[in-house]
Amino acid sequence: AIEEVEDKPEDLKPRAPIVTVMGHVDHGKTSLLDYIRKENVIAGESGGITQHIGAYGVTLDNGQKIAFLDTPGHEAFTAMRARGAQVTDIAIIVAAADDDIMPQTKEAISHAQAAGVPIVFAINKIDKPDAKPENIKSGLAQMNLLVEDWGGKIQSQDISAKMGTGVKELLEKVLLEAELLELKANPDKLAQGTVVEAFLDKGRGYVSTILVQAGTLRIGDYVLAGKNSGKIKAMQDERGNDIKEAGPSTPVSILGLDGAPQAGDKFNVFEDEREAKQIATKRTQLQREQSVRTQRH
Ligand code: GDP
Repeated sequence: AIEEVEDKPEDLKPRAPIVTVMGHVDHGKTSLLDYIRKENVIAGESGGITQHIGAYGVTLDNGQKIAFLDTPGHEAFTAMRARGAQVTDIAIIVAAADDDIMPQTKEAISHAQAAGVPIVFAINKIDKPDAKPENIKSGLAQMNLLVEDWGGKIQSQDISAKMGTGVKELLEKVLLEAELLELKANPDKLAQGTVVEAFLDKGRGYVSTILVQAGTLRIGDYVLAGKNSGKIKAMQDERGNDIKEAGPSTPVSILGLDGAPQAGDKFNVFEDEREAKQIATKRTQLQREQSVRTQRH
């Protein structure tokens, strides 16, 4: 079985926040994630991140880091939560300033609230002549959500995901929110975390993007992820650079699993390869038996 050993307080080290972007369709989630990925909000790195691996990490000028789940929309968020995975520390909710608070804006707010995840509002498209950011803030106030410049405690930032206006300030507010959460994890143990996405690559085999949430993942580790297992042959960061280890709050692509686990599956590292394989086999059997049973009924 998978043992959960409680961490001692002195073993816990600060870790970067993990952020999800949600909001109504067409309000600019993808544009915001793309801007952060490609533009130079990243310290000392020119060119930005070109590949999409489901999650990426950025480093700001001051050296602080943020990990983004690059799967906009709350479908991914709720799918992960339905599988018991809580991977988000802070939600950025994007609301377009040339529109009203829309049904999916409200849904995103209730999802974040239900998960107990603090919200930072990104009021987007302020470059548009018909943008009315105050309309959004007033709409939020009517829902009892008072943003800071309306005398409340909730952070919001006017942005243009298209031009990049206010994005840096938005990320600074995310980090401020993260500070209040005092996020910590123990890096000195076998890694555990959650699968973000996985696919079969023609040349490389099964590629899984995972988010390390605790411990440190290393090449050669035996991993169990959902119903799949394997020894890690290679690891890459969001820039396609080969890396040898990945600590808490680091998204990383791994090679070596015997299949593609599902988004939201948890992963664990085992000392013993056989144990990982046995559990994976048992899980596959269990699922087969269950599907046979449901077919009979
Ligand atoms: P999503 O559905 O929330 O992911 O929204 P997208 O990022 O796909 O954006 C929807 C549309 O709004 C696209 O045509 C974008 O180019 C446009 N858009 C997004 N952000 C901005 C912005 O800041 N200003 C303007 N003018 N257009 C934007």
